[in-house]
Amino acid sequence: MRPEALEALTAALSITGNASSVHAEGRAARATLETAREEVRALAGAPVGGVVFTSGGTEAIHAGIRGLVNDGENSKKLTKIFVSSVEHAAVFSAAEATGLPVEKIPVDHHGVVDLDWLNKSLADYTAGGDLSDETVLVAVMLANNETGVIQPITEVADIVHSAGGLLLVDAVQAIGKIPLNFSMLGADLMAISAHKFGGPIGVGALITQPNLPIAPLMGGGGQEQNRRAGTHNVPAIAGFGKAALAARNDLRQIDRISKVRNSAERVVKNLGATVFGEGVDRLPGALCFSAPGFSSETQLMSLDLAGVAASAGSACSSGKSSPSHVLTAMGVDRDAARSSLRVSFGWSSTDDDAQAFCDAWSEAYTRIKSRAA
Ligand code: PLP
Repeated sequence: MRPEALEALTAALSITGNASSVHAEGRAARATLETAREEVRALAGAPVGGVVFTSGGTEAIHAGIRGLVNDGENSKKLTKIFVSSVEHAAVFSAAEATGLPVEKIPVDHHGVVDLDWLNKSLADYTAGGDLSDETVLVAVMLANNETGVIQPITEVADIVHSAGGLLLVDAVQAIGKIPLNFSMLGADLMAISAHKFGGPIGVGALITQPNLPIAPLMGGGGQEQNRRAGTHNVPAIAGFGKAALAARNDLRQIDRISKVRNSAERVVKNLGATVFGEGVDRLPGALCFSAPGFSSETQLMSLDLAGVAASAGSACSSGKSSPSHVLTAMGVDRDAARSSLRVSFGWSSTDDDAQAFCDAWSEAYTRIKSRAA
């Protein structure tokens, strides 16, 4: 956690009030909450009234997709959901939970969504009937959690809006790591999470166009303008705000982080690894590759023994034995997907960290290769 976030979270633990109460203690909690809302709003480029605090990215995604579908006030009824085939499991799960038909948008071998396919499919779908009171929802992530590949969201938004649809962008991996502006991206809904950029774990937000009706996932109090019920987790939200403030001032670190990543990338490539998403826009700290004959599990164990924490596929779903759906959607074969590794460098990563990874990884891979020879 960024020190500024930890300090704000710790200080807010001694606020006794409930942010919805009118007494002085409640007003103090409310002031902390609203300061954080402004800090998050500034980082996300969100409109006034467009930040709904949640427990994290997963809840924000469910709140956006299911809340939109469930709200009877929407002037247009949603009839279908299109999701990119490289989305996080939370997006597939939320889309399926609506009971609406769900179709996957294909990606190319870099993992970039096929814009022509999307254009044609939306045109075909909307030409198929009278859509004056119906609409579709499209979900495309900004940056992928395994490869770091960045999607052409403004182009996706143009296509979706020309077809009269709505766009949800999962920006959980991108926020705080690259400059990002909700309004300029053209999204209608956007999910973010604090812990991906140095904020506390267990807090996030759904960013919305203020006029978009969203039904709360759970009934209860009228918090967050009736869009998310439940007493606010003020300490976590306070830490989220300060992490957002720090990340905004820190975006100039992008070049430094990509240099750290590139130095590690050169080493793995020199030893024969194939890097995924190379040649297209990627997050500065993301490195995902496959090393022939070096299974993901063996790589993870060798690195862990050397004190390096990495992951294979999605960290949230590690332990799964099936190959990554992201790499599979990119056309990567099963063997290559089974020897893939995902290494992430962040705001606090240094050249020494990259060196520690390279030393541990190179030593283990050289050993494996010499045994196989
Ligand atoms: N979306 C993406 C792209 C993610 O990487 C993750 C978590 O890794 C999530 C959503 C879920 O976010 P959270 O862990 O805050 O629920």
